[in-house]
Amino acid sequence: MRRVSVLGLCCVLLLATIPALAGDYYALTPQRIAPDTYVFEGALEAFDFDNHGAAVNTGFIVTADGVVVIDTGPSRLYGQAMRAAIAQVTDQPVVRVYITHAHADHFLGNNAFADVPIAALEATAATIDTAGEQMARHLYDRIGAAMRGTSAVVPDEIVDLGSDGQARVDYGDHGLRLIATAGHSPGDLMILDERTGVLFAGDVVFNERAPATPHGDIAGWLHSLDEAAASGFRIVVPGHGPVAYDDAPLGQTGDYLRWLMHRFEQAAERGDSAAELMFEPLPARWAALAVQPAEYRRSVGYLYPALERATLSSRPD
Ligand SMILES: [Zn+2]
Repeated sequence: MRRVSVLGLCCVLLLATIPALAGDYYALTPQRIAPDTYVFEGALEAFDFDNHGAAVNTGFIVTADGVVVIDTGPSRLYGQAMRAAIAQVTDQPVVRVYITHAHADHFLGNNAFADVPIAALEATAATIDTAGEQMARHLYDRIGAAMRGTSAVVPDEIVDLGSDGQARVDYGDHGLRLIATAGHSPGDLMILDERTGVLFAGDVVFNERAPATPHGDIAGWLHSLDEAAASGFRIVVPGHGPVAYDDAPLGQTGDYLRWLMHRFEQAAERGDSAAELMFEPLPARWAALAVQPAEYRRSVGYLYPALERATLSSRPD
């Protein structure tokens, strides 16, 4: 018995010295959606200990000037798994990373791209600078060991915008239009590849998954959806949910946001409490989305109190 336990202890000690490998947590398979254009499609559910936070879409474009990466996922190990998968597709080096917005699941893989310029909108870089570490700790609580070695790397390049809130950058024969918006978060960057018509919409667009609204400004978000629709895209990569070859996810996201605000406004007029609103059943169309009713309840918690106060204070009595 004693020999067995000593052997067991040796095994434990040996395991503890073996560094975690990205492949232990993430099996990332690039999905080719257009010429030179690939997506790692995430799970539809919320982050948990089983999916290790891989519930987000990230992607990359292979060009004659190198590889452009869009979002780096939830952890250092996820970012490393991305680089390994990219290397299976092309020998080209990664030359730039764009971060669509400052939510933990989209930028915490930056550790794996520390040798590459990482670009984002100013509001995104500022949020990662001030709140990134706190977001990393919060995600650690939700997905655990897959987060080891992850820290918040602040983007080192601010996207240089024209007066129209857009920029155009060429990588080989891929002309990318960078479209600065806000609404899902204070800085939402969308990237349209004019060569392929692929729009990387970040979390301006969700598909078959309830939109996450904690930092949302719904009016601004609806405006961003209009900008996405006006971009002339042919294929849309939502922040979460399947890639689409039409504009259905834009319609779904917009319909959901309008429905949400309408329900909140009606509830505030009636004087309903947040607790009452939270447990009101959802219409079938919205109950069928992934991460429901949890995401709806989160929206009540984050958005309703301010609306309730504003409605109460606008009453003449
Ligand atoms: Zn997201």
